[in-house]
Amino acid sequence: MKTDRRFQRQRDQLVEVIQEKGITDPDVLAAVGRVPRHIFLDNAFLHRAYEDVALPIGHHVTISQPFTVAYQTSLLGVKPGHRILEVGTGSGYQAAILCEMGAQVFTIERIKPLQARTARLLRSLGYRAVCRFGDGVQGWPSMGPFDGIVVTAGAETIPEDLLRQLRLPDPDIMRAGGRLIIPVGPRSHQRMMRFTRSGENSWDDEELDDFRFVPLLGDTE
Ligand code: SAM
Repeated sequence: MKTDRRFQRQRDQLVEVIQEKGITDPDVLAAVGRVPRHIFLDNAFLHRAYEDVALPIGHHVTISQPFTVAYQTSLLGVKPGHRILEVGTGSGYQAAILCEMGAQVFTIERIKPLQARTARLLRSLGYRAVCRFGDGVQGWPSMGPFDGIVVTAGAETIPEDLLRQLRLPDPDIMRAGGRLIIPVGPRSHQRMMRFTRSGENSWDDEELDDFRFVPLLGDTE
């Protein structure tokens, strides 16, 4: 991906803002400093592209707040070559951040026209995310297991299929199990959770901070 130098000053300022809010992972900060967020938005929001806010992208959904994207990405612990599944492609911004970090990205979106538009955009920018239309609650079994799964919409329950598509730990090569990062709770607010696979039928879970996401819906449109 060729870096777009326009808006570089605003991107650098955005990096400072999310750093002040507690994001420390240098690879995540570097990716936020490189991805041209303005390209993932409608022109009407160009002047707000580097504010640390969620913005509408049509179809009653939003591009996530940059802090939230950085927070979820930090929790994944992305390393180059990791296979990462994103549920909720939306604008494609989160997928682009993951690609910038060297992950192999698989991403699913339930709204057909948004999915088609974003897949085209990511391709045109040189991001090699594998994009699919469908219900991400079921994951993408044929592409798994995954080192990480990030759900970018609020879930009322924890999808069993996603837990099962996480990579098992491998003590021989000191590799930890895959991680699922998912906001869980009612529509009004969710708690960010991280599940780390520890065995065939076991996962360690951590409850983290509160957020508010658009809902994870179990059908397509
Ligand atoms: N990651 C996105 C970005 O960077 O712009 C955030 C998009 S928005 C906060 C969440 C997205 O999840 C919406 O586009 C919504 O349509 C999608 N979504 C909700 N339920 C879904 C499901 N079951 N499968 C796939 N996508 C889903």
